[in-house]
Amino acid sequence: MKFEQLLATDCYLCGCRLTQQNKDLRDACSLNIENHASGEATSKFDKKYSGIGEKLVCEHCRSQLPVCIHNCFTCGLPLPDSLTGASNQQTCGQCLISSPVFSRLISAFHYEAPINHFITQLKFSAQFQLLPIMVDFLVTKLIQGYQNEPFPQALVAIPLHPKKQRSRGFNQARLIANRLSKQLNIPVIDRGVERIKLTRAQSGLDAKERKENIKGAFRVSTKLPEHIAVIDDVITTGLTVSEFSSTALSHGCQKIHAWSIARAYEI
Ligand SMILES: [Zn+2]
Ligand SMILES: [Zn+2]
Repeated sequence: MKFEQLLATDCYLCGCRLTQQNKDLRDACSLNIENHASGEATSKFDKKYSGIGEKLVCEHCRSQLPVCIHNCFTCGLPLPDSLTGASNQQTCGQCLISSPVFSRLISAFHYEAPINHFITQLKFSAQFQLLPIMVDFLVTKLIQGYQNEPFPQALVAIPLHPKKQRSRGFNQARLIANRLSKQLNIPVIDRGVERIKLTRAQSGLDAKERKENIKGAFRVSTKLPEHIAVIDDVITTGLTVSEFSSTALSHGCQKIHAWSIARAYEI
């Protein structure tokens, strides 16, 4: 048996055999880290980062995933084709008119197949196998996105209402935050951050009902660092993140970024 075969791994999504390609991806990954580590923004960055998940997906499967490529720097919505190719800090027209409470949103994927199925399986069937892969794609995106500015000082997962957390058994946003925390060496804050209102699902409500539904949903009873990243699995209208951000701003935060596995939007 060749040495290379001993190192072979299967693609997690399609089962094909990965060998040299796997190594290439690993090399690309460590290159990323080195580039990042040479910048000023890296004091918090853990050089031991090893995003194994993304490396376990073959090139074909990677090309099928709905990766976010050209999105608004501020709200994360896709930018029109006319802006494609411009700087990666491009902001959409809506954000120029009225910027959200958070100042930056980064998602790894559009909320489309197969990612929407993966997230549904995670949330409603407790299928956790694909979580590391999805988070590792986000980590790669974050490393690229924070080459010129420091990472947030702490991560805060959007809390679930205790009743909902009990019935589900876990908070998927917290699982995502935990893995990000390990990969990026940024602490997670969960004490003193609660969801005090049992909100209805936002889907199916009109714009006014959604605002009313989420209003006053969160309570923060701790002092938060100046710069945090709020973590959720999917961000759609941004109302939940905005409501949480507004609450956080009155508890020590000055700059809030939002990170999610997927960005959904209504056409
Ligand atoms: Zn594959
Ligand atoms: Zn925007």
